Amino acid sequence: MGVNVRVLIDGPSELVFDYAVPAGMDVRPGCRVRVPLRRQSATGTVLAVVEAEDLGFALRELNALIDPQPLITEVLLKVGRWMSEYYACGFETVVRSLLPESVRSEENSAKTRRVAVLVEAPDAELMEKLAKRAPRQHAILSLLVHAEGGRLPVADLGQGAAAALKALEKPGWLRVVVEEVRRDPEADGVVEVLESQPLPLNEPQRLALDAILQSMESDKPKPQLLLGVTGSGKTEVYLQAAQRVIDRGRTVLVLVPEISLTPQTVRRFKARFAAMHEQVAVLHSHLSQGERFDEWHRIRKGQARIVIGARSAVFAPLPDLGLIIVDEEHENTYKQDSVPRYHGRDVAVLRAAFEGCAVVLGSATPSLESWHNTRTGKYDLLRLDQRADGQSMPLVRVVDMRMEARKHKGGVAILSDKLRQALEQRLERGEQAILFLNRRGFARSLQCPQCGHVCQCPHCAVALTYHRTDERLICHVCGHQAVVPGRCPGCKDPSIAFQGYGTQKVEEVMAKVLPQARIARIDADAMRRKHALRDMLNAFKSHKIDILIGTQMIAKGLHFPNVTLVGILNADLGLHVPDFRAGERTFQLITQVAGRAGRGDLEGEVIVQTFTPHSPSIQFARQHDFDGYAGQEMEFREHFDFPPFSHCAVLTARSQHERRAEFTLQTLHLRLKEELPSGVQLGEVLPSPLVRAHGQFRFQLTMRAKRARTLSSHVQSVLQRTSLPEDVTVVFDMDALNFS
Ligand code: ADP
Ligand code: ZN
Repeated sequence: MGVNVRVLIDGPSELVFDYAVPAGMDVRPGCRVRVPLRRQSATGTVLAVVEAEDLGFALRELNALIDPQPLITEVLLKVGRWMSEYYACGFETVVRSLLPESVRSEENSAKTRRVAVLVEAPDAELMEKLAKRAPRQHAILSLLVHAEGGRLPVADLGQGAAAALKALEKPGWLRVVVEEVRRDPEADGVVEVLESQPLPLNEPQRLALDAILQSMESDKPKPQLLLGVTGSGKTEVYLQAAQRVIDRGRTVLVLVPEISLTPQTVRRFKARFAAMHEQVAVLHSHLSQGERFDEWHRIRKGQARIVIGARSAVFAPLPDLGLIIVDEEHENTYKQDSVPRYHGRDVAVLRAAFEGCAVVLGSATPSLESWHNTRTGKYDLLRLDQRADGQSMPLVRVVDMRMEARKHKGGVAILSDKLRQALEQRLERGEQAILFLNRRGFARSLQCPQCGHVCQCPHCAVALTYHRTDERLICHVCGHQAVVPGRCPGCKDPSIAFQGYGTQKVEEVMAKVLPQARIARIDADAMRRKHALRDMLNAFKSHKIDILIGTQMIAKGLHFPNVTLVGILNADLGLHVPDFRAGERTFQLITQVAGRAGRGDLEGEVIVQTFTPHSPSIQFARQHDFDGYAGQEMEFREHFDFPPFSHCAVLTARSQHERRAEFTLQTLHLRLKEELPSGVQLGEVLPSPLVRAHGQFRFQLTMRAKRARTLSSHVQSVLQRTSLPEDVTVVFDMDALNFS
């Protein structure tokens, strides 16, 4: 008896079939194969090689091996199996994440071109002869003689070169070869980066680097949390650690929350490794399918040895991985909000364990999950408590907006007197400022001051958002658009006013209050054009803009030496959402945003406007006191048994039919309750905070357990035993971060 293989067929239906392996075919898990399927042929991925049993009938044989090398490494297969169990999702959906569509699809094969290569330098006699008798051949040979390496793409030799090339190839003067060309995503005129030199490290940095290097020596390195205040030189530590790994011939994976929002981190890696820039791959989300295919294969072959990318880059098929860095590990963008709902940081830690490589998680405001892991000894803690450039932390002032609102007699106060004065001062001194607006909590709705009517989305249970530039109301959940009513749809009053405010409103107010300032706004609306963000940030950097107004988007790793003032307009918005992490997020936001001030030689100041000045997340952020904040927040989490003291998952049922969604979830609730494993706490079936979205009603059930596996396997087994109505979608989200 030989061996069989279990194949996951490409396609939406998650089919898995066994096939026999033809004699002499070397098939391993992770290989791509062509298989017979009914009367047709299909492609798939080998999940496992299994001992053939006697089934009483013969299995069909594989048709062909598409690539002799497995496309998924053994470690990544293991990671995939773990994900499938942990997140209770089909293995096929995981494999889809592991192997991007562009790599699986056969249409995106490598791009090739024909190149003429000079075999031997022609002598003068030959050239003379050709010049007279075959001018075309003469021209081609002279071009090649002067070309670098005696090579030129055939396409560059002009039309009708074919005959001349043939004539030259025959006597052996040149050869025409086919070679793969890389679709270089950086090729379109990006400026050369200057090589940067390693900085002499300060003491805490040196200790951190030593600890990382030491962990690389171990067979089972412990994950390390690098807690460093903003500007403490974490990136310099990453760069020097990466250099050591490269020097030892191994590879480095760097995860960032989002490429377009962390241009400076990417640039610093490119600058430090400029001498080997061909070996640095940046996995942007806007790569074309062909570019993605090429980059993926470059990585797999070990041609790209440093990979920088967002969440999904955690699956980059780097061979010989020596180090994984997860920058800004607390960022929510690491959690995927579609199946498989994995957390990039957690998968990175797992992958590192399977690879036996070092993993460093860095942040100024670590997630409490990671913090907790340093307390229990699962992770090691490395700290950088001072700014590297010797600057002190910016001074943070808190302005009580309840007082300001009184001054404005009930109207919405956008700009406190303190913040306005601080802005004027910066303008006089020729310094720059960033104004930050927290937009969580759906502000900027249209509300009638007479009857209180709020314009709602007809498909989602949220207020529509007013967009000034195109005079429209837009739903931020489903994109539904409506015209702005001239009178209140409820009471017909014409004085319907703008309730709340957004970045557009702020921009308008600012232009009135500070007419001399050059103001620009960065948010998702203003940034729809390609490169708009990059251009805007460059304009700000070269001081063509005085004041930059933005949302969360600008809270990440930006670094502008001339920015000495950061204003947070409405620090509380994030506090009023039904989520136990609301306080943690507010603390992170204020700390991160404050970190944008005073990054150069000038001292920075931060002004936080809030209606709840005494909330701990605001007070501890004001004092740059992560330990203090974490201490009191952990007490609260422990008391209520919230993460990180438990794992929390959400089961959601969605349907166009309200009753069906509710009933389905209630049925699941009942089944989950039967044989409930000990240690699992089950909540009640409740309407989601966002009760309707995209025309679908949503109900949810929150559950918690000490061990994640206990939860997943219980839910998985109940879901497998329950047949769901066709018009109801059930989604399980392990370690959920979003409870709306
Ligand atoms: P973080 O990543 O922690 O926010 P960075 O690595 O961006 O910090 O460092 C902040 C600033 O300090 C940068 O301008 C960086 O060049 C500088 N810096 C970092 N390490 C050193 C050092 N050892 N000596 C002098 N300057 C440093
Ligand atoms: Zn909507």
